[in-house]
Amino acid sequence: MGEAPAFIVDDLQNGNGFPISNGFGLKSKAGETTTIIGDKTYLIAGSDESIGVKIYDKSTGKWTIPTVLGKEPKPCKGHSAVAINEDRILVIKKGATPDDCIWFLEVDTQYVREQKTVETEIVAWSKGVIGNAQKPVVISGPSGVGKGTLISLLMKEFPSMFGFSVSHTTRKPRDMEKDGVHYHFTERSVMEKEIKDGKFLEFASVHGNLYGTSIEAVEVVADDGKRCILDIDVQGARSVRASSLEAIFIFICPPSMGQLEERLRARGTETEEQILKRLCNAKAEIEQGTSSGIFDHILYNDKLDECYKTLKKLLGLDGSTVANSQTVVIPAPRGIDLPVDHSVSKIDNKILINCGTPGSGEASKNLIVLDVSSLKEGAPGRTRGLDVYTVYSFSDGLNGINKLS
Ligand code: ADP
Ligand code: 5GP
Repeated sequence: MGEAPAFIVDDLQNGNGFPISNGFGLKSKAGETTTIIGDKTYLIAGSDESIGVKIYDKSTGKWTIPTVLGKEPKPCKGHSAVAINEDRILVIKKGATPDDCIWFLEVDTQYVREQKTVETEIVAWSKGVIGNAQKPVVISGPSGVGKGTLISLLMKEFPSMFGFSVSHTTRKPRDMEKDGVHYHFTERSVMEKEIKDGKFLEFASVHGNLYGTSIEAVEVVADDGKRCILDIDVQGARSVRASSLEAIFIFICPPSMGQLEERLRARGTETEEQILKRLCNAKAEIEQGTSSGIFDHILYNDKLDECYKTLKKLLGLDGSTVANSQTVVIPAPRGIDLPVDHSVSKIDNKILINCGTPGSGEASKNLIVLDVSSLKEGAPGRTRGLDVYTVYSFSDGLNGINKLS
């Protein structure tokens, strides 16, 4: 497929320095950019309050206002926009904080295609993240098998490495459970509305209650530079498998149904009726977990310390080559410090952000290069794999290059 016809518009000017003339009778105002991909022109308009998106389709001659998924970027002092292949537009905010200046408007990524309906155009905002995060870990298994226990051990031993994806649920909290820590305890109507609004990566009805992983729950962990752990049921694991989130899938099995029942009863957190329901559901879960091909690994939690050791081995944490609890994890740089006045251009897979000329006798970071050749969809809401280089120029003509990711 050939390169998409695309041009860069930097507020009132396009990349060639010409005033905007998009040929559709549209006059771009300050704070607006238009970017052409194929037959479509994407107008991104920022105001003090929000950033809006409109699409002009050359083949139908019509403007549409698309459904915009994802958390939109906070308003800023203008922006630049450039098409990256046919699937997304890079949006560089002006006057934004280093961790908030790189965004993408996804127009035809896998995630957007999955959400598409016949009636409306769909686009999605996602925040640009420098470098790659390690694959999230999905842990499933019947209630009472020991998922929570294993996850707690992992988080205690490797606090700087793992972060728990806090799910939403409509079930009532247990005595020791805290809202926002163990779950986001939510009213069913509220959760149903948020699911409808596209805020969930997956959700399922489990033992009579609604459970789900919000996109934000996964983002929060990844943004903290940690590897995300999800404790979700088999239906949820199946949905995540089918989504754009690449993860490692582990199913935990009990040594026997008798021992599962013992553990559930010993935990003492459910009523008799709930215990029976969970045991009844366990049979189908084990059947699906061990035969559906969803899971990369199946672990038997007989002796806890042995199972925990095997889990660590699977995750490369058995102490031989990889980090232990003493390891200091150096977080990847999370942002780029951009001056308000900069201009943007694109050469192949490199976006050049020109930040001005250094004054005499001083060294200045005057060019930032974003390498977009290895972009990956992370959780919906994040685009990972951005490589960033800063090029320092000295007034005596010498240059230095520094890779940030
Ligand atoms: P889940 O999160 O899968 O519902 P939990 O982690 O809450 O299960 O474990 C259920 C109960 O079983 C807890 O009381 C826990 O201490 C206990 N338990 C976990 N693993 C084992 C094991 N290998 N042997 C015996 N008891 C266990
Ligand atoms: P519990 O009520 O014991 O905390 O959890 C019951 C079941 O719900 C467990 O199997 C757990 O893995 C699953 N669960 C917890 N959070 C989620 C979630 O966000 N999505 C899905 N699909 N299942 C979840």
